[in-house]
Amino acid sequence: MRSVLPSNPDLRRLRDLARALQRDCRSGDPSSQNRILAVFPDADVAQVALSKALAVVARGHGYPSWPRLKAEVEARRSLSADRMARRRKIYEGKAKILYEGPEPGTLIQFFKDDTTAFDARKRAVLEGKGVINNRISEFVMRRLSSIGVQTHFIKRLNLSEQLIREVEIIPLEVVCRNIVAGSLSQRFGLPEGQTLPRPIVEFYLKDDKLHDPPVAEEHIAAFNWASTQEIDDIVALTRRINDDLRGVFGAVGITLVDFKLEFGRVREGEVSHVILADEISPDSCRLWDSRTNEKLDKDRFRRDLGDVVEGYAEVAHRLGIAL
Ligand code: 5GP
Repeated sequence: MRSVLPSNPDLRRLRDLARALQRDCRSGDPSSQNRILAVFPDADVAQVALSKALAVVARGHGYPSWPRLKAEVEARRSLSADRMARRRKIYEGKAKILYEGPEPGTLIQFFKDDTTAFDARKRAVLEGKGVINNRISEFVMRRLSSIGVQTHFIKRLNLSEQLIREVEIIPLEVVCRNIVAGSLSQRFGLPEGQTLPRPIVEFYLKDDKLHDPPVAEEHIAAFNWASTQEIDDIVALTRRINDDLRGVFGAVGITLVDFKLEFGRVREGEVSHVILADEISPDSCRLWDSRTNEKLDKDRFRRDLGDVVEGYAEVAHRLGIAL
């Protein structure tokens, strides 16, 4: 029977197939022996060499010999590496890269292992972080779409990348807080951990050079960063996302302390509306163990607490994401 070579074939898997064929043939399996004999009628099936099994696997995939199959696999791999290297980079941020997508109106979002804090004065590469954030963000975006929140997420493509809808990013960081922590605690001299009577939604201008200054709704409308209708929609969406995610994390023993969202505009003809963009992950949220208040988020990096990726993996694990 002819097998089809997958679009991204793996030589190791093909070699494993040949080894299994050799082993089964030597141990007397009639169908494996017949496959060998069909190509090498004079073969000693009890002692068949690996080179013969490799040749049979190659024939089974439509190639005259193992070296020809191997050359094809290597050519395809270098083509796909070349395509990866040549795809157009649209934007590179501190933790993510956006590439041109396969269809107009789509982009590929790549999650980097790089992490930065304090205006990028502190930097590190945390092996495995990108893969975990890709999975957690996928989980959260899917969850939000299931409750009717429109997001840019289309599908996860592989370990580190997801396909997203292209949006016109609104240059605001929208922070929602349930508990006093981080810059709120510093600004007003409040102890961390105090529960707020009502969640607070704040806006910051997304501008590294200006260190993301806090802005009021009046600034946003005055400088046309977003319309008043968009601001109202963003606040309503943020509160809805907060209500839902507090429940999602709470159910697995995690307190959602605060988080940052970004929104984008999508145009449909003359009209446009805002949808959720960027990511939701331990890079952009404060997540505390509900019992011990242990930090499971980027504060582990900011505050040199160690085991940063382990904290992120714990969040994934509790959400039921198998890494
Ligand atoms: P704070 O204002 O206390 O520093 O941050 C509030 C929340 O927003 C925290 O969960 C923090 O991780 C998130 N946040 C604030 N600024 C950024 C940012 O520039 N990038 C990311 N990924 N998260 C941010």
